[in-house]
Amino acid sequence: MNLMMPLLRRSVSSLLMVAAISPFTACAQTPAAPVATKKPVVVVVATGGTIAGAGASSANSATYQAAKVPVDKLIAGLPELADVAEVRGQQAFQIASESFTNEKLVALGKQVSALVKDPSVNGVVITHGTDTLEETSFFLNLVIRSDKPIVVVGSMRPGTALSADGALNLYDAVSLAASPSARGKGVLVMMNDDILSGRDVAKRVNIKTNAFGSQWGPLGMMVERRAYWFRAPVKRQTTKSEFDIDTITTLPEVAIVYGSGNMGTLGVEAATKAGVKAIVHAGTGNGSVPDYGVEGLKAARAAGIQIIRSSRIADGFVLRNSEQPDDKYDWVVAHDLNPQKAKILAALALTKATSSADLQRMFWEY
Ligand code: GLU
Repeated sequence: MNLMMPLLRRSVSSLLMVAAISPFTACAQTPAAPVATKKPVVVVVATGGTIAGAGASSANSATYQAAKVPVDKLIAGLPELADVAEVRGQQAFQIASESFTNEKLVALGKQVSALVKDPSVNGVVITHGTDTLEETSFFLNLVIRSDKPIVVVGSMRPGTALSADGALNLYDAVSLAASPSARGKGVLVMMNDDILSGRDVAKRVNIKTNAFGSQWGPLGMMVERRAYWFRAPVKRQTTKSEFDIDTITTLPEVAIVYGSGNMGTLGVEAATKAGVKAIVHAGTGNGSVPDYGVEGLKAARAAGIQIIRSSRIADGFVLRNSEQPDDKYDWVVAHDLNPQKAKILAALALTKATSSADLQRMFWEY
């Protein structure tokens, strides 16, 4: 009797399905003309990472090679995608994301920009290594002038591993990019069921599948192809951004100097000597600068380098004129952006901004 239960349940649910479908088929007046339902077109732009990784055995969840599987194989390996969208693949790069450079960011931005301008494309998914996924998603969020859904996705385990997370993440990402409800919400990150804003998402755990989060929480969740939304981003992005990838060819150098006890002055000195355009000072606590470090930063500013006070603390935000007199020193604060995101915005800002006041405005607005 017990053995029969699953079968029984299945036949009951089949009956329910037929009952649910039959009213529509019964109403059809003209027989047999199949309705051509056009599926949304989603382009998957692959850049590498663990989502394209492969290990020696299924037990290798953390020891494997990233960036091995080409985009066509990724798509072909997930036939369920065909139910969701007409999926096309483009191979942008095949790299681990720690090897992203400004040149690659700009090239990827231009590729995505061209795709969203194509009227036949409904949405774009970018498969990406998780290490610098937060930088790329923020960059694209700032420079792509489109309302169309753009979704960045990765995985923490290669497809060859037990309980690999890439398949569902990619399925969710394509479903999200195909969803009209994702329009106008900026560049999104799809990881581990969560829909996150490309602006403030960060990798917060380096080995577990719940690696990504934001101190402000996810925007929503994907469940069985459907997006459930709970909040919307408020900062300037995409169509409301003053940055446009189509006008950008290069990005200026920005250095991050990491704060710690006994941090010394070498980092700031080296960055100044290298002639970077901005230094993001990833200070302790509220973006603090040690007493012996202030003169070096003031000298860098006097040499024309913008100084951006950020924090090595993952959450919270840096308050202007707290800990250091930013007005007096003509420094900028990074608001809630972590140092690596502050570096992205600083580089873009410096393609336009001429004054630290303008730079600070951008840090408040984006
Ligand atoms: N470090 C590699 C990368 O970021 C693999 C990590 C990952 O994708 O999860 O591409």
